[in-house]
Amino acid sequence: MSTHGAARRGAAGPADGEMLELAAFCGLPSCRREYRRVLGAGQRQIYCSDTCRRTAQREVRRLRTRLSHFVEVVEQTRIDLAAHGKGDDPNEIAIIDTHQRAKEGLARAAGVLRFVGESEDPLAEELRVLYEAVEPFVTQS
Ligand SMILES: [Zn+2]
Repeated sequence: MSTHGAARRGAAGPADGEMLELAAFCGLPSCRREYRRVLGAGQRQIYCSDTCRRTAQREVRRLRTRLSHFVEVVEQTRIDLAAHGKGDDPNEIAIIDTHQRAKEGLARAAGVLRFVGESEDPLAEELRVLYEAVEPFVTQS
């Protein structure tokens, strides 16, 4: 019996010329492929490939555009409500904010669901179940 292996595992860094790797899952929801993340090589790797990294960047840009659109809709709705003299009731504003946040959250979930497609990833499936359960309350009220 030797303690040599344990001592090596406890070492601060990899030996010369040896890259320390860990199993990781791609940060792109539609991929989630397992890959070997190389540790200590500059910026932390989040995606399994450059293709996934670029796809994720495009998706984030698209979602940011979408979000700013909804923020504009909220602002315009507040202005319209104020024009009816209804914009200054704090209770009403709280209800509108809650409902608007629910709508925005639902819109974001819908975007993610389109993005993951028919993925059988358990996380995607749970999000789909939650979306379908909540959607009628948010769109009907
Ligand atoms: Zn990937």
